[in-house]
Formats: sequence, C-alpha cells, structure tokens
Amino acid sequence: MRQNNDTINNTISNTIVVIGAGPVGLAAAAHLIARGLTPIVLEKGQSVGSAMLEWGQVRVFTPWKYLVDSAVEKLLNKTDWQYPDKEHMPTGREIVEQYLVPAATNTQLESTIIYGAEVVAVAKNNLSKSSSNNRDETGYTVHFKTQGGQYHSVESDAVIDASGTWHNPNPIGLDGLPVPGERENQAVIRYGIPDVRFQQKVDYMNKRTLVLGGGHSAINVVLDLLKLQETNPNTKIHWGLRTNNLEKLLGGGLNDQLPARGELGLAAKRAIESGALTLLTPLKVHSITRTESGVSVENSVEGVIDTLEIDRIIVSAGFRPNLDILRELRLDIDEVVEAPSKLAPLIDPNLHSCGTVKPHGVMELSHHDKNFFVVGMKSYGRAPTFLMLTGYEQVRSISAELAGDHEAARRVELILPKTGVCSTKKSNAGCCEIALPGSESESESCCSAPRGTKEKSSTSCCG
Ligand SMILES: Cc1cc2nc3c(=O)[nH]c(=O)nc-3n(C[C@H](O)[C@H](O)[C@H](O)COP(=O)(O)OP(=O)(O)OC[C@H]3O[C@@H](n4cnc5c(N)ncnc54)[C@H](O)[C@@H]3O)c2cc1C
Repeated sequence: MRQNNDTINNTISNTIVVIGAGPVGLAAAAHLIARGLTPIVLEKGQSVGSAMLEWGQVRVFTPWKYLVDSAVEKLLNKTDWQYPDKEHMPTGREIVEQYLVPAATNTQLESTIIYGAEVVAVAKNNLSKSSSNNRDETGYTVHFKTQGGQYHSVESDAVIDASGTWHNPNPIGLDGLPVPGERENQAVIRYGIPDVRFQQKVDYMNKRTLVLGGGHSAINVVLDLLKLQETNPNTKIHWGLRTNNLEKLLGGGLNDQLPARGELGLAAKRAIESGALTLLTPLKVHSITRTESGVSVENSVEGVIDTLEIDRIIVSAGFRPNLDILRELRLDIDEVVEAPSKLAPLIDPNLHSCGTVKPHGVMELSHHDKNFFVVGMKSYGRAPTFLMLTGYEQVRSISAELAGDHEAARRVELILPKTGVCSTKKSNAGCCEIALPGSESESESCCSAPRGTKEKSSTSCCG
C-alpha cells in the first residue's frame, strides 16, 4: 500500500478526483480507468475500505456475487486473484482483505490512491459559491489535509465524492441533536457497530448496556451482546427503539430475497420473546448524567418517565452525510433526505421501507455544479437502504458520462434483489412492485420514475 504522500504536486490537473477508497470509490476509479480517464483517489484512512474495517466483524447480508464491481473484477482478472465463493456472505473485514486490498495493491488502481489524505473542502477553481462567472467551464480544486497536518490542494476536471457516511453518526436526540449530557459522556458512548464480542468485549462483558437504534446495525449489536451474555451471564442488555414498529424492524424474515437480512430480524424476534433483553419502545432519551458506577439515563417509554442506570450506551441510529466539505459548491440536495433531489423521493424512509430502488446514474445524481457527483453510501443521504451494487451502477454511469458516452451513461445495466417487507406510505403493496401508471402508489413506488418526470423504468428494480 502507498504511504502518506506529503510531497504531492499541488497543481496536478486533467484528473478526476475521487474522494474515499471504499468499495464505491474504488469502483469509480476502475470505471474511470476503463474509460481512459485519470482518477486520483484521496483516502483519509491508511487502507482501502478503512470505514468498512471499523465494522469488519459484521457479516453482510449480500453474497459475494453482489459485492464485486465489474470494472474492478476486470482489473483483478489480470492478476492471480480468485473470485470468492459467489454465494458466500463475507464479513466487512473479508471484503477488505479478499477484494479491496488485492484490487488496491495488485492492479492499476495502486498508483491512483493517496492514503492519509482527508478532503476538507471542494470548490470551483477560484470561484466561491456566489460567483457565476464562467462557472460551467471552470474545474475544481480539492483541498485536503495529510497526516502531518499539512494542507494541500489538487485541481481536477470533475469530482466524485464517495466518502460514505460512516464517520458522521446520528446523535441520540429524537430531534437529530445530541441530548444534554451526550457530549460530556463520550467516554461511555460508542456510535455505529462496536465489536462487543471480541475486540471491545471488556467494555461490555457483565456490564449494563443500552443499545439505541432500530435498524440492522442495532440488531447486529444486540445479537452480539446476546452471544456475550451466554458466557458472561451478568451482561444486561436494554434495547431502545424510537418507534414501536416492530414489524418494520424485524424485517421481511423468510420473504427477504437477501435471506441473511431476514434471518437477522428473526433472530432478534426470538431474543425478545425469550426475555434475554429488555425492550424499551417507543423510547425517548431526555438526558445522560454521570454516576459513580456509570451513567444515569433519564428517559420516557410511552410517555412514562423513568431513570435507567447503565454502564455503556451504543448508538446505532444511522448516519448522515458530511455536507460541510461541499459548502462552496452549488448542490441540488433534497432538504429532507440530504440526497440528490431526483434520487431522494425514491429512497425517503418516510415513504419507503424498501431496500431497493430503481437503478440510477448520472441523470439522478447531477448537481447544479457540472461534473460534480456524490455517489455510494453518501448519495443516499440519511436513508439507510444503500446497497453496494447500486453504487457500482452509479459510478459506471457517471464514468461513461465523463468520457462522453452519454448513451451508455443513461442505459440501466442493473437488476437488484428486493427485500421482503417493502411498504410505501400509501399502499401495502410492495414498493418493489412496479406501480401502474395512474395508480395510487405510482408516485411513491421505488420503481417508478422520479417525481415530476414521465420516465418509466424499463427494468424492474426487483428483477
Ligand atoms: C454494518 C453494515 C452492513 C452493510 N451491509 C451491506 C450489505 O450486506 N450489502 C450491501 O450492498 N451494502 C451493505 N452496507 C451498505 C454499504 O454498501 C456499505 O456501507 C459500503 O461500505 C458503502 O461503500 P462506500 O464506498 O459508499 O462508503 P464507505 O465504505 O464508507 O467508504 C468511504 C471511504 O471514504 C473515506 N473518507 C471519508 N471521509 C473522507 C474524506 N473527507 N476524505 C477522504 N476520504 C474520506 C473513508 O475513510 C472510507 O474509506 C452495509 C453497511 C454497514 C454499515
């Protein structure tokens, strides 16, 4: 792997900067190379997939056949790389070790990545957000910081932001803000999916832990704590959900076309029924206060105020995109989902519980500033339903567009698996079903065209 590069030339031009070397950033670089373009990937971590390594113990719910990008695969096929068992579901760490690292070390991608380079801002060359002068014809300057604390900038013709959302977890408050005492008690609060069974088990074994969150991440944490409890019976688990919509939480079960995801929900259901954990729903945390032995959590369940004495809190309540680094750009972002505004209605969690959307590309991902794109997990804003395969199609389409192949950019080349419990607000019909023109659910079907357009998907997002 390449080490930090503090000597980078500040004026490299004719490049396309990709922010982040996760699975989607790496796929973007591979598609750009395949199109004869020159990517430069800026990654703030010391490895490819460094965000994924932070949840490396988690087994994903999609098998290998949905995890490998076609352009990366082509590069890997020129080496001695072997495609892993296509039906096997790897952990996050296995994805990094068996796919991302080989791609980043043994292929052309190696020379495109700069590690330890954290992007702090993106702007148009010498134009602030308020300046319209020749804006469309002006390229970009990407400002980044290397680990020694030095600041650099690199010019590029286009920018693809694939920086994910992992480093911006949602705080505890129902209003989207930290509750009183949350900032002050960070020593006992962890966000995301800590490895409670192995790497960080001393913090949780025979302790009282409150898990907050109602998605697959929270289920993963709860199931791992239950396994820890088997050998450490004084481990106490409280699971707080904002809503009491258990059916949505427990997923599609056997109807889920990603059976591992359905199984997670079923396992959680069994644990609740066995009484191995205390379910608090709908829970509102009011404040957190330090005590001698841990923290005291003022809360209410269905409006009844109570105090919970615990040692640790794990917040698995989703993520949000870091838009601060894009402050000087003219974005077209939906104010609810914080995703590109043409994509947002398809994935708005207020409307869909569906894990799949119509495959989409450059048309849905464009912003007011030309040749700037947010892709991957970050393109879904605050929506939690992103799949890697969706990101690979996004960057295939964008790379084609940047190379001038507008026809290929607009072609849909992807069929996604569907999840079992898929509902829209207006209809109990699966949102993965194709809505009929004029039907009540049409405007909210994830397979229907973006709001305000007449376009129809020729391919079902559900296959
Ligand atoms: C627990 C979990 C399980 C999941 N399971 C599945 C699954 O089964 N199937 C599936 O398809 N999807 C799954 N996903 C969703 C999604 O596909 C993954 O999160 C995937 O890693 C997203 O890829 P990405 O490249 O968009 O972002 P990331 O993997 O988050 O990569 C972003 C990269 O950008 C870097 N970065 C961040 N900020 C900066 C910056 N300012 N400057 C430079 N670099 C930066 C990060 O260090 C990171 O390496 C899962 C997600 C989670 C959290």
